[in-house]
Amino acid sequence: TNHVPSSEPMKLPPRTSIETFTTFIARAGQLCGADNVSIISKSDKLIDGNYMNPCKGHDMHAIYDREYFLASAIICPREVPEVQALMRLCNEFEIPVWPFSIGRNTGVLDVNVEGAFALVEPGVTFFDLHEYLEEHDLRKDVWLDVPDLGGGSIIGNAVERGVGYTPYGDHWMMHCGLEVVLPNGELVRTGMGALPDPTIPAAEGLRPDQQPGNRCWQLFNYGFGPYNDGIFTQSSLGIVVKMGIWLMPNPGGYQAYMITLPRDEDLAAAMDIIRPLRMQMVLQNVPTLRHILLDAAVQGPKSSYTTKSEPLNDADLDEIARKLDLGRWNFYGAVYGPEPIRNVLLSVIKSSFLAIPGSRFFLPEDRHEANSVLRTRANTLQGIPSVDELKWVDWLPNGAHLFFSPITKISGADAEAQYALTKRRCAEAGLDFIGTFVVGMREMHHIVCIVFDRDDASSRGRARALIRTLVADCAARGWGEYRTHLALMDQIAATYDFNDGAQMKLNERIKDALDPKGILAPGKNGIWPKGYDKATWVI
Ligand code: ADP
Repeated sequence: TNHVPSSEPMKLPPRTSIETFTTFIARAGQLCGADNVSIISKSDKLIDGNYMNPCKGHDMHAIYDREYFLASAIICPREVPEVQALMRLCNEFEIPVWPFSIGRNTGVLDVNVEGAFALVEPGVTFFDLHEYLEEHDLRKDVWLDVPDLGGGSIIGNAVERGVGYTPYGDHWMMHCGLEVVLPNGELVRTGMGALPDPTIPAAEGLRPDQQPGNRCWQLFNYGFGPYNDGIFTQSSLGIVVKMGIWLMPNPGGYQAYMITLPRDEDLAAAMDIIRPLRMQMVLQNVPTLRHILLDAAVQGPKSSYTTKSEPLNDADLDEIARKLDLGRWNFYGAVYGPEPIRNVLLSVIKSSFLAIPGSRFFLPEDRHEANSVLRTRANTLQGIPSVDELKWVDWLPNGAHLFFSPITKISGADAEAQYALTKRRCAEAGLDFIGTFVVGMREMHHIVCIVFDRDDASSRGRARALIRTLVADCAARGWGEYRTHLALMDQIAATYDFNDGAQMKLNERIKDALDPKGILAPGKNGIWPKGYDKATWVI
């Protein structure tokens, strides 16, 4: 055409002309401020950024080309009514929008010591809330739970059902009360938040999103009637703009520890020790059993250990474990409470694990190496965020990662079978097995960290083929994933197909009812709106 505005995007939204897009962008600028709208234009270079300052328009761990998952523009609404207006605008123009949380707002709305909870906005990261607690001298009262890396959004992480490692490690379990913008722009509060409290004087005359919440909004999750919160996780049914999260009352004492297990086969014995201890809450936190290479990769890249490019064998792994004074498997946990309680718990934990021949027990002060994983975990397990564990991604040059994360039963036989399968497939793909078992209350998230070289097309291709194979292999054994990358959403959703895909049919019906034009995150977790020809969109 003869009309080519300077702001032509690298890629237009589906079914959208350049004229429609240009008008939409102008309207979005009027709503949110022109400075808060940026187009990813044809002349831009796609720069990944880094962990603390990631790109917002494409996948910084791209397993396809960087242009494959690409936004046309990035819009940063400043407050809740702008999020609502933007959703109405997207409906008007039928332009799809994908929400993410980390913007520039850092609204810690409330930290309530008596009730031990916080109320946060999407931009609040684990670092932000931690700093808030420190600045206000609140860690003596309440602790936060953090994932391995602290730069993520608390809301973003909880709605994706991410986990951390204190007793409050299941973030979604510990959320309490949501405020959500629906795809049509309506604003709802869930649970007790749906009940206004007219005795709170400030409530009168304020916008709905500014009204103080019910006193029990962050204390009781369920309210009255159907419990809706779950449909806003891993979904495309709303944008969460406020969330309550329970904080852990300062337990009055704390001790992190590590137990090293020398042999590959010790995995099974360890699991059968872990299950009863965890279920009885002798293991109070979300502990992890980590493969040697995860810890080794935190200490240095593959090239610092070996000149090999092929996957390392048992002898190589034993050599690394010896050099690092670690086991083939390394168990990280913590006990919480005053000293007598800690001593009792630790004595049970020690005597249980030390039944495994060659196992050894360490406290953080026993470790003197640089970048000690135990010393980092000693912070993580008391809710102090860090980025130390980012280092394992550098195992390979230009390192990027994909998580393959099947759920497994806490049992020696199950863990062994899943480990054997994933290890074999990694080796076939020419990649090292790097993994960890993250122990929940009744199950484990088995996290296989697929590290690849993002600038090497062959490495990317092998990582893609590996994860697709693993999804299929595991489904054939009844193992399913808890969360995934955009590229795998369709394949994984299709494995959850009990009774002729009944769950997907339900999800699609809800999607079409709440978002008839399919403008919010179409395809998220494999759910395609009715206006999309699923067969042509599925990857
Ligand atoms: P991370 O970078 O840690 O993955 P994001 O902020 O990108 O975190 O969030 C991950 C995913 O969670 C997003 O792709 C989106 O699907 C969903 N998400 C994040 N924030 C929200 C929110 N406020 N409301 C609804 N979904 C969200």
